[in-house]
This record gives sequence, C-alpha cells and structure tokens, in this order.
Amino acid sequence: MVNSNPIGTPKDRLEALKESYLSRLESNLNHLELLAGRLLEKAQSDEYLEELHSTLHSISGSAGSFGFNQVGQQARRFEQATAKILNQANAPDEPLPAREWIAQLRASLESDKKQKASASIESSSTSKADGNTCIWLIERDAILAEFTAQQLKSFGFEVHHITDLQELNNPSKPAPDLLLIDHRANQTLSAKPEHLGSWKTLLKDFTCPKYFFGAEDTFDARLQALRNDGKGYFVKPLNMISLTRHISELFQVESSEPGRVMILETNSRLSQTLQTALEQADMLVYSLSEPQQLFESLNEFNPELILLDLWLTEVNGQELTALLSQVERWAHLPIIYIANESNSSLKNQALLMGGGIFLEQPIDTELLARLCKSQVHKLRQLEASRSKDALTGLLKHASIKEAIQSHWNYVQRQPQTFSLVMLDIDHFKQVNDTYGHPVGDLVISAVGTLLRQHFRSTDKLGRYGGEEFTLLLVDCEADDAFKMVDNLREAFEAIKFSSGDTYFSCTLSAGVLDNKQFSDASADALIEHADKALYQAKQSGRNRVCLACA
Ligand code: GH3
Ligand code: MG
Ligand code: MG
Repeated sequence: MVNSNPIGTPKDRLEALKESYLSRLESNLNHLELLAGRLLEKAQSDEYLEELHSTLHSISGSAGSFGFNQVGQQARRFEQATAKILNQANAPDEPLPAREWIAQLRASLESDKKQKASASIESSSTSKADGNTCIWLIERDAILAEFTAQQLKSFGFEVHHITDLQELNNPSKPAPDLLLIDHRANQTLSAKPEHLGSWKTLLKDFTCPKYFFGAEDTFDARLQALRNDGKGYFVKPLNMISLTRHISELFQVESSEPGRVMILETNSRLSQTLQTALEQADMLVYSLSEPQQLFESLNEFNPELILLDLWLTEVNGQELTALLSQVERWAHLPIIYIANESNSSLKNQALLMGGGIFLEQPIDTELLARLCKSQVHKLRQLEASRSKDALTGLLKHASIKEAIQSHWNYVQRQPQTFSLVMLDIDHFKQVNDTYGHPVGDLVISAVGTLLRQHFRSTDKLGRYGGEEFTLLLVDCEADDAFKMVDNLREAFEAIKFSSGDTYFSCTLSAGVLDNKQFSDASADALIEHADKALYQAKQSGRNRVCLACA
C-alpha cells in the first residue's frame, strides 16, 4: 500500500532538516548578493572572491543532498569559474557576472522546489541480524551531517557524527567499523594547527576501511583519497542508496573456501614442488601430467586457475590456451605459464592468444602462491558481479535459482533444514504511476539493502524479477524464518521515502516455508509452494507474511 502525506508534519526529522537547509540556502543567496555588489565596486578583491568561492563551494557540496540538484550543479560551475580567476595572476578582462549567477541560482531554486525527482528515506526502525555496523561520519556541515546520518540509520547503521577532530581520540565512543570522511573537514573542523595535517597521519590509528567524499569530481580528489588510505571516494551529493548498498556489500563475508588450482606440468619434480608450496598456502591442488586428460580433469576438479607448462612434449602452451578458449566454460579461466628463457617466441604467441602471467624458472614459490590467491580473488569478484542484479546488488533470477537447486542437492546428501521466502512489494505499480520510475527504482534498491542488513551473509538473497525477491535461509526452520521476515516487513513499512515535497511508505507481502514441510518436493516445487503462500498473503489483505500449508 502506498501511504502518502503532504509536507507539514512537524515530527518529520528529514523534513525539519530540509527546512533548516532551505533557510540557510536562502541566506547564502542573500550573502552572495552582497558580495556581488562589493565585487562590482572592487573588481579584483581577493578577499571577496575567496568568500564568493567558499560560499559557492558550500552550496555545491550540499544542495543536491536536499533535492536542490540544479542549484548544486550551477553552484559548482560558478565555483569553478571563480577558482579560475583566483588562480590567475592578472585581473580578468571583464568583471565577474556574479549578479547574473545569483539570478540564475534563484531561478533554479524555484524550479528545484517543484521537482519530484529526488528521493530520500527515513525510518525509526533499526534492526540488523548480527550487530549494527558502526560508522563515524566526519562532516563539517552540521545540517548535512545530520541529514546523512538519519538516512544511514534508516538502514540499520549506527552513526556517530564527529564535529571536532579531537573526538577521534575519544575512547568512550564505540569503535568504528568504517570512517566516512568529508575530505575537507580537516581544514575547518578543528581550531588546532596540528590537526591540519594529512588524513593519513590523523587517522593512522584506525584500521577500519576509510571512505572519503567531497564536492569535487576530480582525478586529484580521488588520488588524494587513495594516498590517505581511502578505499574509495564518493562525490557529493551522496547517493544514499548506492552508498548504503556499497557499505552493506563491504561487510558481506567473501567466500573463505580455498582456491582450486590445477597444475599441468610434465616435470614431476617441479610439479611436486609447486603443489607443496600451494598447499602450504592453503590452496587445493590437482596435478596433471597428461594433456590428453585436460578436459576430463577440468570437469572433475572445476579449477579457478591453471598453471601451465609452456613447453609440454606433445602439445605446447599456446595450443592449450587456444583449446581452452574454444570451450565456453573454460574460456575465461586464468592461466599462469611456467616458462624458461628459451621459450621467448612461444611466450609471445601465448600472449597473443590472450594468455595471462608468465613465471620463469626458477620459480619464486612465495610469489607464485600470492599470485594464485590474487587471481582466484579476481575471478571470484568477476563471477560475483556477473551474477548480481545491477539495481539491488542481489543475485539475479538465474543465480538465485541455481543457488536454491545446489543447496537442495546438498541437503539430499547432508540433511539440513532450510527456508525459502518469496517476497513482493504491495501495489508497486502505484509507486511508479504516482512518483515515476526512478523513485520506484529507489524503493526496489532500498529493499535490496534492507535484505542484506537483515539476513546473514551465508543466506542467499535474490531479485527474482521486477519487485519480487526470493530468499534462501540456510539452517533455518520456517517458524524462525517467519519471525525474521515479519521483522523485515515492519522495518520496510517504517521507512519513509520522500519524493519532492511528499512522503510515502510502502509495504510488502511474503510467503514462507521450509523443506521439512515438503519433504518430497523438488527445488522448483518448493519455489512454487512459497509463491502460493505469497499469493495467499496478497489475497488476505497484503502487508503480511503467510506460512505455506503442506
Ligand atoms: P501487488 O500488490 O499485487 O503485487 O501489486 P503490484 O502493483 O505491485 O503488482 P504488479 O505486478 O501489477 O506490478 C509490478 C510493477 O512493477 C509493474 C512494473 O512496471 C514494475 N516494475 C518491474 N520492474 C521494475 C523496475 O525495475 N523498476 C521500476 N521502477 N518498476 C518496475
Ligand atoms: Mg507487487
Ligand atoms: Mg510482482
């Protein structure tokens, strides 16, 4: 159901923040007007130009977050033009058209106020399966910080706003799992000169991931973030949906299964040395000396990487690379070649065939083990991104079905209870019809992040289609699944989406079962039963969870 209420309810936190921001923006525009007048009198006064620049910078970094997108983009253009003049040695030929800029900013503000394209979220519900991720938000703009924090909290993150850099040394705060830093905050947050140093020094005691953000979408800003140990840099206005998704994915545990490496090498002593080194580095190894058995062994062992002797007796590495590339399943298998100096023309040919890394004998086994691990990691990341739906980051239809089938096969051998959930947003068509497709996308994406926040990283979560989701909850009975999904339903209902000046909330319905209820059913039949339970939830009024009847 889509429940909407017009702006004006004083209890809405985001709404109150938006109003404070708007009044600050209006006084910023008045201040710019004043500066423009002074600049007309004193065309190249650095003092006024710098103030103009800093006010425009502040607007460009914040307006978009509150839905004033055109104002934000325009302020950025004017800020850049001002910076150019500030960097020039000589006075400009023509005076700055500051008065026209302000007129344009005011017109954009009126137009932005009428737009419904922006959307944000708010919720009082903050549940999560295994402890809240704690974020320290270092942001100098108090209104923007609170607005950002509110939205992060909607997804179950715990947020502490750092207003003074001395708080970084405050042991009474819960330790952060992640730092989110306005990259310019060290220029204004602290009065103490020692705090004006680089972030790398300031944050040297924090081992958690660090992300920077700022108004500049430049190479330099990204490089600075990297050099200060940033794992990433986000451009303001922060896209809260993609930011929360990124953070929730960051804390999903990557598969810790050992990497599977196949060695095809005729020299048995070398092959044994390599195998021992890789096994000592916790990898599973399958050694092969007969190229004729290659495809049989590949299918049996299902490697994630192959170590290939570039010069086998009957067939060379270049031919093997070509053979692998002709079979779809193995065409993208990473290859590390074992070569020696005399193989240089073979090396070039293998490179041209799209081959990978060459290691020359004598092999540095430590380097080899590290290379194997990084190649397997890359392959796993690539496979994960291929199986993920772009909007939600959940598994795509085919991948969630595959995951269910494969878990079903597994429990035939190792009996274990698992639950299946089919979930669908109620009256979603109305959301699209009323607020437009992009806002609908935001709602779908929010479900994705919320699901990750509510379930364990070992559960499999998929977007089955449109606004329908399928969950495989491992080692979980239907009664427990029912409670968890009902909590999720409540948390989703509590989220307030905003579009333009309207707030609305959505609900969802779900069908739940476990494999014990339907012991003879195939994986596909289980999905059908869960779908029927979902249908029953819809029929009996929506915004509810129904347990399937055996
Ligand atoms: P019910 O409560 O019975 O589920 O009603 P409903 O309106 O949610 O169901 P229906 O299946 O009629 O509508 C689903 C809508 O979801 C129709 C389709 O346009 C929309 N949709 C599907 N995929 C996407 C998407 O990726 N983005 C957006 N914005 N809308 C989508
Ligand atoms: Mg629906
Ligand atoms: Mg549907």
